[in-house]
Order: sequence, then C-alpha cells, then structure tokens
Amino acid sequence: MRLSSIPISTLRDNPVDAEVPSHRLLTRACFIQKLAAGLYIYSPLMWRVLRKIQAIVREELELEGAREILMPIMQPKEIWEASGRWARYIADGQMFHLKDKKGTEVCLGPTHEEVVTLFVKSLVKSYKQLPLNLYQIQDKFRDEIRPRFGLMRSREFIMKDAYSFDVDEEGLDASYAAMDRAYRKIFTRCGLEFTAVEADAGAIGGSGSQEYMVTADTGEDAIMHCPDCDYAANVEKADSRVQPSPDGGAAKELSKESTPDIKSVEQLVDFFGLGAQHMVKTLIYKATHEDRELCVAVLMRGDLEINPVKVCNATGALGVELASEEQVKTITGAEVGFAGPIGLPEATRVLADKTLEGMSNLLSGCCETDFHCKNVNMGRDFAMPEFHDLRLARACDGCPRCDSGKLVETRGIEVGHIFKLGSLYSKKLDATFLDQNGKLKPFVMGCYGLGISRTAAAAVEQNHDENGMIWPRPIAPFEVVIAILNNKNSQQVELAEKLYQELMDHGVDVCLDDRSMSPGAKFKDLDLMGFPLHLIIGRGAADGMVEFAIRKSGEKRDLPASEVREAIQVE
Ligand code: ATP
Ligand code: MG
Repeated sequence: MRLSSIPISTLRDNPVDAEVPSHRLLTRACFIQKLAAGLYIYSPLMWRVLRKIQAIVREELELEGAREILMPIMQPKEIWEASGRWARYIADGQMFHLKDKKGTEVCLGPTHEEVVTLFVKSLVKSYKQLPLNLYQIQDKFRDEIRPRFGLMRSREFIMKDAYSFDVDEEGLDASYAAMDRAYRKIFTRCGLEFTAVEADAGAIGGSGSQEYMVTADTGEDAIMHCPDCDYAANVEKADSRVQPSPDGGAAKELSKESTPDIKSVEQLVDFFGLGAQHMVKTLIYKATHEDRELCVAVLMRGDLEINPVKVCNATGALGVELASEEQVKTITGAEVGFAGPIGLPEATRVLADKTLEGMSNLLSGCCETDFHCKNVNMGRDFAMPEFHDLRLARACDGCPRCDSGKLVETRGIEVGHIFKLGSLYSKKLDATFLDQNGKLKPFVMGCYGLGISRTAAAAVEQNHDENGMIWPRPIAPFEVVIAILNNKNSQQVELAEKLYQELMDHGVDVCLDDRSMSPGAKFKDLDLMGFPLHLIIGRGAADGMVEFAIRKSGEKRDLPASEVREAIQVE
C-alpha cells in the first residue's frame, strides 16, 4: 500500500477528551476518528491492525475446533424475555433498543447467548452432534455509562464471541480448557504481556470464570497476585488471608457510650483505646433490583474494607452503591457515622462479613447520633445477620492459596473473559438434546468473549513512547515502511520503488510512504504511526544505500539495498 493512497492528516496536539495514550496516539496518527461519543471510524491502517488480530483469533479458535458463524446484530425482544434478561438489561441501561415500524421492540445485541442457544436448539437433537463451539466476530453495542479511553470503552466495538455446547460438566471443562489454551496463544501471538486471572462471575454465578488482562498502568482493572504462587484474581473477586478475629470472651452486658462527634474508626480507636479489629462498622448500601430499590446494611470488621461486588452478588441485586446521606439518615434515624446493627428498622436486610462470625463483645454504632455501644453481641442484641464473604482483598494481605505470599496489586486491561455458564440459558430457552439413554437434557454451555478493538488499544497502551506507537510486529498495520525523503529526487524515488516491488514480491508486509512532505515531518509521522521497521531512502540512494531503523530500540544503520531483505528477516 502507498500511504499517498489513504487519507492521513496527523495531528500535533492531543485531542482534549483523550485521557490515555492509546486514545491520544491512535487519534493523532489518524488511525481512528471519533464520530460521536463511543463511536469510531477505523482508518485503512487501523483496519489492517484489527484484521490481523482477527486472523490470529480465527486461526487459534479453528485449531481448537470452534466454527465461525454470523448472527444478526438486531435481536427480537421475545428471546430476551424468554431468557429473563430483557427487563434486567433495560433497567441496567446498557442495552440499545428500539421499535420497528410495526411497533415491535428489538435490541442491538450487547451479547448473543439467546440467539446462539436457539440456533443450536433447532439443529442439534442428539448427543451424537455434540460437542459444538460456534463463534462470530462482529460489532457489539453497549450504551456504556462512561464511554471513554477511545477504543477501550466504546459504545460500538468489535468482539469475538464464542459459545460452547456440551453434554455434561466434564465436556464443558474440556471446552473451557480449549478456549483457555486458545486465548493464551492468541495474546502471546499478538505480542502482548498478559495474565489470566480469576474473575467475578456476577449474579448468574456459574462454576468458573477467567479474565485475560493486558498489564498496563492505565488499565481500569485492579489485579491481586501472589509472587510466591500462581494465584491471580481481579480485585472484584480476590480473596485473601487476614489476621484471625480476636476472641472477645463470654458475652458481657451491653452498654451505651456517649461519643460526641466521634464517627470514624480512627476516631473510635483513639477514643476507646481499642483496636479496630474489635469494632464493627456498618455501611448502608442501596441495592437496585429489577422492580425495586432496597437498602441493606453491611457489617464489616473495623480494620477491613467492603468489596461492593461481593455485596452485589450476595444480595442478588443488579447493582449496589453506597446510600446517600439522606437515605442513611432516614434508615438509621441518626447522623452519618453512627449507623449500627442495633436500632435498624426490622425489615432491613443485614449482611455481615464472615470474619465477624463467632466474635463477641464488639464495639459498634447503634443508630443514635453521638452514641456507640460496647459489648454488642450478635443474635442477642440484634437478629443474627447473614454471613457472606464481603471483604475486599488488599495489597500486603496474605495469599489465599499459599502460606508464604503477600498479595501485590497491579493494573490491567481486560481483553478477554471466559465463562462456564452451565445450563442457565438452555434451561430458560428449553434447549435440550437426547442423551445416550434417550433422556432429554439441557445443553451445558460456556461463553467466551474477546475484545478485538480493545486488544488493539491495549497493544498501544503497552507499547508506546513519547514519540508515538510501537506496534508489536504480528499486529502492526505493516511490518515495514519504506520512506522516500525527497519525492523530487529521482534516484530516491527509483530506489524506493524498486525496493518496494522487490519486498512485496518476496511476501514482505511492506508499505511505501511516498507522500510529499518535509523529511522532518515525515520522520515524526513514522514514529507516531509506529511501524516496527523503517527503511529510509535519502541521500544515500545515490550509492544504493538505505537507512535501516528499528522503531522500538531506536537503533539505526546504513545498509546496501541488497542487504535489506535479510536484515528484515533477522529482526
Ligand atoms: P468491562 O468490565 O470492561 O465492561 P465486560 O465484562 O462488560 O467488560 P464482556 O461482556 O465479558 O465484558 O465482553 C467481552 C470482551 O469484550 C471484554 O473482555 C472486552 O475485551 C470487550 N469489551 C467489553 N465492553 C467493551 C467496550 N465497551 N468497548 C470495547 N471493548 C469492550
Ligand atoms: Mg462492560
């Protein structure tokens, strides 16, 4: 490809709304252009990157026996009602939906479990036709609350979604392991550094879920990992070991203490001269369900923190957030800072972290402004709460898997997510097959997402410098660029054209920068665009010499044109 044949008009300044390097650099290099919030046009160079990622994805999935299909983006409401997800997705606000001219409601697919399950239901009648794994690569639509970071969180984006169908859990385990293998090979082949981490399976549960994180400081996800063993988990899911809870001894008499303006755990520690691990803090959360909002009280040991994702899973809500000051006052009848398990309205659901189980003689708020209670005992002073793991794992906590390690926190970009679904959708959609004994059984399913456009952006997050992008060679728009410094110099033009033709004839992935512009501007552009290898045709052309430059290391050397091909192979 000649760069003169495509529209490029690189920008010197960063777009005002671009907060991360991939957004800044992809925009400045004209690889992407914003049409509206979360909607992007891909330039010819960007499209080549995306197609290369897709090609790697296709190869690795096909090797594991997955087969490509293409489903409609637009999906009827009925199938989402049948699976019980329509109301939920509408309430969640992330699904684009519209009415056709007959008034029938449809959505733009944020995901395709329903469609693919019904497709397989209609075609597969017997265990003999299983296992199956079907995938597609297609635009997905999600009305993200905050579309941002360019291609990392957009509203229309390219995803590979695959769905496996097995006869039983054992089959699912094998299909899931095959996808894990494929994902590891895909991200390795893309030239990315990544880690696979345990992931939160959300409200639908499921028996296993893993995310693939490209390590980058700008990543939206926090990862906890153990340097001593292979434990790694998204912080949303992570577990950890903490100091065991202290033994408070036999229950003592409850006493109410005046604590004027003493609200925080730190203040209470000073005031009572008591360790935070003897205290219970009470936070009020607002839990949004399909048909209502409920306030729940969450009890946590004073020295530990709450993980809202675990609270959400424990309540079965669509989402949870801390209640507003007003809501806290209404439910506790006290100022913020004095909430406690004693004195809450009777109907309030109270969840307590597992570390509190068996503790006695605690210090806590009691829903009265400027008072706290000492020697609080669960089941005696208030109804026994529900115990769940609600705790946030923190850096330096003990590793939950090995005895020696301490957790370390890093950041990552989620580029893939694989998931054991089980029979959730097949049961709802009555998708069954006849097993070996002639009995009807629901398909046992897995689903496997991989963000194609997000992977491209993640590659830039991980590979750039102050001058621009540095594409990993396997997904670069072109591996090699030949740049003519002076278009009016016939020796330069001739040598460049000859080399371009020769490299193409030998199957090298090469483009020719034949744009007429100043050498300085051209150098800047090439660095910004991030082709891995640069062949600069300048003054040396008179002697058949080419400057060979490696974008990543900045290494440069002059070579006779006849040696260029070998140098490209070696690098
Ligand atoms: P996130 O937590 O980042 O919103 P998700 O859990 O909603 O991601 P999945 O539903 O598992 O994501 O989708 C599969 C893959 O699609 C993700 O791993 C990610 O690579 C990609 N993806 C999801 N949402 C977006 C988006 N808004 N823009 C670009 N890629 C996305
Ligand atoms: Mg999402």
